[in-house]
Amino acid sequence: MSTWDAARRRLERATAALVALDFDGTLAPITEEPARATVPAAVLEALVTLARYVHVAVISGRPRSFLEQQLRPLVAIGATIVGNYGRSEAITEEERTRLSLAAERFEHLRAAGVVIERKPSSVVLHYRTRPDLADRAVELARTTAEEYGLVVQAARQAIEVLAPGAGSKGSVLEALLARSSFDFVLFAGDDLGDLEAVRAVRRSRVPSYCVAVASSELPAQLAAQCDEVVRQGTLHRRLRALATHLSTSRPPL
Ligand SMILES: [Mg+2]
Repeated sequence: MSTWDAARRRLERATAALVALDFDGTLAPITEEPARATVPAAVLEALVTLARYVHVAVISGRPRSFLEQQLRPLVAIGATIVGNYGRSEAITEEERTRLSLAAERFEHLRAAGVVIERKPSSVVLHYRTRPDLADRAVELARTTAEEYGLVVQAARQAIEVLAPGAGSKGSVLEALLARSSFDFVLFAGDDLGDLEAVRAVRRSRVPSYCVAVASSELPAQLAAQCDEVVRQGTLHRRLRALATHLSTSRPPL
């Protein structure tokens, strides 16, 4: 485990650094209505600046189309944007039917105030607005998934029912790290899905600094695997400071 100051110095000296970040709860503050989540303008600006000096990747469970819309300037500069946990969003007609049938089972929860999000290859039940229905939502998601041959993935105040398929944030990181010889990795995430990413970074043996974003919902396993737990505002300030430093001390890539 190292300190942020030491990590920052290594990152600033690195010739091929990777800065890989989760979206919700890490770049974008968590919102009750997931569709309203957005990255603060100053943070997005810092990422665009950073992308001139390091490889920037945003890896999220969100659909790729949502990320591209939110991160347009980053897409334009060639940053890596990975949606749906690195899983294919292309599903068969038969899988689409099973997902639709599953989604119908959740309608009464939607009526009760649970936010139901349809994604290209999954349905997410967000119960942040109705925490009292959490147990019922999770149980229904699990039994419905089993019935229709789907799989579930838990997240912060949400449970997702997905078409079965390969891929995780871990396999995304593995592929990124195999593609280029990075000499430093900074990773930040806040949720269970980020755990595999941190593990993949550690397995790679590339010098790294992994940050968990603090919240009352931070999974203990993620906190334990990371070098530091920081507030979202602190992470954002650091990204901005890093962008300023690199832009005044280094030529672009
Ligand atoms: Mg997240």
